[in-house]
Amino acid sequence: MLVRKITDLIGNTPLLEIQGFDLPENTKIFAKLEMLNPGGSVKDRLGIKLLKSAVDEGLINSETIIIEPTAGNTGIGLALAAQKYNLKVIFIVPEKFSQEKQILMKALGATIVHTPNNQGMLGAIKKAEELAAELEHSYLPSQFENPMNPLAYYETLGPELIFDLGSKRIDVFIAGAGSGGTFSGTARYLKEHYSETVACVVEPEGSILGGGQAHSHKTEGIGMEFIPDFMDQKLIDKIYTISDEEAFYYVRKLAESNGVFVGSSSGAAFAACLKEAQELPAGSTIVTVFPDSSERYMSKNIYQEGVSNK
Ligand code: PMP
Repeated sequence: MLVRKITDLIGNTPLLEIQGFDLPENTKIFAKLEMLNPGGSVKDRLGIKLLKSAVDEGLINSETIIIEPTAGNTGIGLALAAQKYNLKVIFIVPEKFSQEKQILMKALGATIVHTPNNQGMLGAIKKAEELAAELEHSYLPSQFENPMNPLAYYETLGPELIFDLGSKRIDVFIAGAGSGGTFSGTARYLKEHYSETVACVVEPEGSILGGGQAHSHKTEGIGMEFIPDFMDQKLIDKIYTISDEEAFYYVRKLAESNGVFVGSSSGAAFAACLKEAQELPAGSTIVTVFPDSSERYMSKNIYQEGVSNK
């Protein structure tokens, strides 16, 4: 395959049927392998959408500096897209997020500004807004507010899932939520296509969506400290709150049994798939998203048994 730009490889990721787990007869779980995007995560779809739409709307030009608060994957996606448009990028990252993601953002040419862990994502958002106010020619894509976020998934991931499965109906869609863009855009598309599709959102303990108290967690990339406006709660049929222990347990199991390297948000999504499978009639089809790879979390001992056991 001849490719002219690395960003041409974003999307159209494979959908893997997960094997070897104890499921009701003919029930199937399929996972979209988003770590196979060129920047290594589901957020490449967002990075290119945020910058393309801003270029198309005339909001940015070659002098613009892009500033965004990010846990890392959105930063990598935005930095890849920024190369395509020759733009400078500055990311505001709470210190705790994985070194690997920060190294990759820098490798792509981004500047990183840290905020203290105890201020969470809200602290990073505040710092990004302050910096944008100080710097001339700056633009904040604002992934937590920009309606382009869910639209990126509505336009790509949703249609791909329908295409990948051909005539097979999707009974349940399950996805983790950080900003909620992946969940809300994809769930909306699938429900428009099949009105009966049930949409389940996955969060770690320490996320507020299911009514819990915000606190820190080890599962990276999902969990909400606040609920973005575009996270349309009418789309949510069920919420699964998954412990760090369970998420990391399935990270290990998925490597052992299916040869697939996933990050902890994928482990959490898969734990929810297995729980949901037991609730459904035999022969159901469940579809989920594996947002990124475990290789992004080696410095956090992601496979070390006992660090987090089931
Ligand atoms: N998993 C990982 C590893 C992520 O980086 C993200 C994005 N923060 C998500 C899941 C959740 O995606 P979204 O922001 O679309 O809810």
